[in-house]
Amino acid sequence: MEFSERTIKIIIDEDKCEGCETHACVEACSTYSRGILVLKDGKPAVEGSEEELARKGTECLACEYACWFRGNSAITIEAPMEGLAAYRAKHGTD
Ligand code: SF4
Repeated sequence: MEFSERTIKIIIDEDKCEGCETHACVEACSTYSRGILVLKDGKPAVEGSEEELARKGTECLACEYACWFRGNSAITIEAPMEGLAAYRAKHGTD
């Protein structure tokens, strides 16, 4: 499943959530953000319209870190940065 906040996209590979016992993503979202990730049928889910999610999301990235350290590395967050590719090419950091 995937959803977007204002400038980022959160992608969750739900197959990796099978057998996860911590559901650390949901706890992190509740602790560090506004709790837009909820647990539904044993997996993370979101409720509300696309507009509500974009408005409520704080882009804190806590779910991704929590899943890396205590879950099954199921979350990828895409955070596009305008001009980054040109900057890296210019400074040789590709
Ligand atoms: S912590 Fe990771 S593996 Fe566990 S439920 Fe959340 S997204 Fe899935």
